[in-house]
Amino acid sequence: MNVSKHKSCFCYTCNKSFHFHGINRHRSRHRDKKEDCKIRYTNGDIYTFNYSADKKESDK
Ligand SMILES: [Zn+2]
Repeated sequence: MNVSKHKSCFCYTCNKSFHFHGINRHRSRHRDKKEDCKIRYTNGDIYTFNYSADKKESDK
């Protein structure tokens, strides 16, 4: 994967790319809506956030 040179993140849930400055805010929107989201960060790491299964794990 050669995505790390681009300063962009990608939300697989929305199928949209985001500036790395905006991705945390975007993730918060999913959290607020209790939606699962899968996000690729600038370093190429992909994380899945299970916000729909929320309640037990509170946001740190
Ligand atoms: Zn999204």
